[in-house]
Amino acid sequence: MATIGILGGGQLARMLAIAGAPLGHRFLVVDSAADACAAQVAPLMQADWRDFATLEKFANQIDVATFDFENVPAETAEWLTSHTRVFPNPAALSVAQDRLLEKNLFGEIDLETPVFAAVDSIEDLRAAVAKTGLPAVLKTRRLGYDGKGQTILKSHSDIESAWQTLGGVPLILEAFVPFDSEISVVAVRSRSGEFRHYPLTRNWHQDGILSISLAPIKVDEEIERRAVARARALAERLDYVGVFALELFSCEGRLLGNEMAPRVHNSGHWTIEGTACSQFENHVRAVLGLPLGDTQALGCVAMLNWIGELPDATPILAEARAHWHDYGKSPRAGRKVGHATICADNAEELIQRLQRVGRALDREDHVAPVIAALSADAG
Ligand code: AMP
Repeated sequence: MATIGILGGGQLARMLAIAGAPLGHRFLVVDSAADACAAQVAPLMQADWRDFATLEKFANQIDVATFDFENVPAETAEWLTSHTRVFPNPAALSVAQDRLLEKNLFGEIDLETPVFAAVDSIEDLRAAVAKTGLPAVLKTRRLGYDGKGQTILKSHSDIESAWQTLGGVPLILEAFVPFDSEISVVAVRSRSGEFRHYPLTRNWHQDGILSISLAPIKVDEEIERRAVARARALAERLDYVGVFALELFSCEGRLLGNEMAPRVHNSGHWTIEGTACSQFENHVRAVLGLPLGDTQALGCVAMLNWIGELPDATPILAEARAHWHDYGKSPRAGRKVGHATICADNAEELIQRLQRVGRALDREDHVAPVIAALSADAG
């Protein structure tokens, strides 16, 4: 029995604790919020990221530390390494915290990216627009998530207002990619260097927030091979331990790296019921140095995110092979409060289940993109 300490007490920590409990492990969560939702399933230490006295008590009670939140200050992650084992390593975390370092690293491992440029002044922004062309996306280099800290520039007249909105912190401008689809590779690397990946997942976003995931997706074998090879190269380059996600744009046969999440990822939530060993269990196994579990998909799976507030659970609970997840959070606009996973033996069955659920919840628009993609594949 080991105790795993988690920095950050959101739904990812909550699902890690739930996955690790059957293996006999304990969890201790540290978060500054007394109502952090992981505290409903694991003990919580309430502390700020720079409250080193409390963090020391935390470190003394755990065997290994990991993260549910990638924006833990690098200083805190570094400090922890002198008190306990920390996975993934703080260097990997700090690369993933900065979109510019992340994109440079993608280049080093031979992963193409959208054209980009660093922006620290309005003059930089003008020069960057000349490099990327328009439309383009201006993003904060750090602390952006779920579409926060970014704005689209459609014409030169947007330069001033984009700078007014985001200027003052380090930024990056990226060419807007007219992608065919967004794909993620959720993968895991163990302490001994064993690497496994889940089947490629297709993701749809609404206002920059993940709305639906579908897996496994029908994709050209060569594209799949390339995506997985880049994910593996990234993990090896960072000496990464644990689960991570590599988010890619698929654009006319090209794969462009968007970002890396150094943690279990929303696009891997379907693995809880859709595989023999979920991303959460595999992360626990990886950070404890245990053998990794099977990552193959058990059929065809869709995950629907509940953003802002939960819908009625009844239609999901009433549907065969559908699973309800309520994170125990209070409703708030733009907040991820839960998800549902819908499994099936094949695409036709999944379409029927999604149609029933969409009708019953009056959310036909929400499920429409995944039904269209499944129907196009069934062709
Ligand atoms: P991010 O936080 O960078 O993952 O961005 C959130 C979402 O915004 C992505 O999943 C895309 O749907 C969209 N997005 C971000 N960057 C770009 C880009 N360079 N081109 C097109 N869409 C983008």
